[in-house]
Amino acid sequence: MDFQVENGGARVVLRGRLTENSNLSSLVGKLGNPAVLDLAGVTRINSYGAREWLSFIRSIPSGTTVILERCPVAFVNQLNMIHDFAGRAVVRSVFVPYLCTRCHEPRERLVDVSTRGKGGALQPATCECGGELEPDMLEEQFFAFLTLKAG
Ligand SMILES: [Zn+2]
Repeated sequence: MDFQVENGGARVVLRGRLTENSNLSSLVGKLGNPAVLDLAGVTRINSYGAREWLSFIRSIPSGTTVILERCPVAFVNQLNMIHDFAGRAVVRSVFVPYLCTRCHEPRERLVDVSTRGKGGALQPATCECGGELEPDMLEEQFFAFLTLKAG
């Protein structure tokens, strides 16, 4: 895993596989307040990596506002499997998996969680080929972390 700290810690770009070797603890002291973590480049998360992430997110001082942006599908799966995976951080946007009804290619689209609204439906999306995209997951399950967080 590789980090790119920008604007004095206001934005951190994470890339690569989240594993036991990711050394996220070295990042805590570099975070600005607020800090936006761009997770789009996170490719895979193993169970050790999930543990590493949890200890990182829990070690962030409570006065620091952390926003998680462009969360990949692998990260959303962890949000839904592990209670409190985001800690006090706010999830701003996530990639949603789609399947094209015309060319049958898998696609992903970025969805702003705040504009989706509570229990709201996904906006219609179009493939690069012009075909209609259908969500390739169960919406209630994929966004379950939003209601888990509130409850
Ligand atoms: Zn298509």
